[in-house]
Amino acid sequence: MDPEKKNNGLLGLHQSHDGKGPVAWEANEGGTGKFQTMPDYIKGKDGKDKYREATITVFEGNFDQHELAEARKISGDKQLTMEEFMVVTFTHEAYHDTDQKTIDAIKQRMNGGKNDFDVETAAEQKAEQKVFEELKKKRNNNEKTSSQ
Ligand SMILES: [Zn+2]
Repeated sequence: MDPEKKNNGLLGLHQSHDGKGPVAWEANEGGTGKFQTMPDYIKGKDGKDKYREATITVFEGNFDQHELAEARKISGDKQLTMEEFMVVTFTHEAYHDTDQKTIDAIKQRMNGGKNDFDVETAAEQKAEQKVFEELKKKRNNNEKTSSQ
């Protein structure tokens, strides 16, 4: 968590490490970003590349009422809290860390290959939306329980 407001326009950031620490991320258009230098990979049990180590930052100071209003609109959840929104953001970043298609696409780009896989849309659809749904479901269940 980073409680200070940063003028980077980010709510969250995922950075894989090389031997020296976190590597800078170049976002690019359409979720086609890559790291500025090659991070370290290790082979997973499935024989595929995984990041050796990564840092996920949630820019707590950048979460404001405007951002929350946007998230409530996107999720259709008018009761979404700021804390829940931060959890959703963390989950988005964790998806960047573990999704194999994302890891492979970025490595291919780093190696000069062409791979237009949109890592942002993937994280939004497969991570963010799922958590938004779970939060809504939980809220509905709690309301049912408390009204009985
Ligand atoms: Zn992202």
